[in-house]
Amino acid sequence: MTKKKETKKIVFRSESEMPVTAMSLGSMLHNKTGAWRNIRPEVDRAKCIQCGICWKFCPDVSIDIVDNWPVVDYDFCKGCGICAEECPTKCIVMVEEVK
Ligand code: SF4
Ligand code: SF4
Repeated sequence: MTKKKETKKIVFRSESEMPVTAMSLGSMLHNKTGAWRNIRPEVDRAKCIQCGICWKFCPDVSIDIVDNWPVVDYDFCKGCGICAEECPTKCIVMVEEVK
């Protein structure tokens, strides 16, 4: 017989108990942090295998998955390049912003 997986509801009593990502989401909604960016990630769909790793690793939750494709939200992407670093097919290229 297989054992039923236990799930636990996490309750944060104060902001200090929250993970950094969860805390920063609140301020992100008010500040479009994408203005800080000097380089931007661009996805080459011809090479993308739709694995979602970029979505998992983005520290700013700035990648959405739309119809299985990663779509960068440039209003909030800070251009850290982690998605490009972690992409297994190297199909994310960081290009200089033109301002
Ligand atoms: S460059 Fe950084 S912030 Fe922007 S989408 Fe990639 S991981 Fe997220
Ligand atoms: S990590 Fe790379 S291959 Fe995977 S979904 Fe993102 S862009 Fe596509």
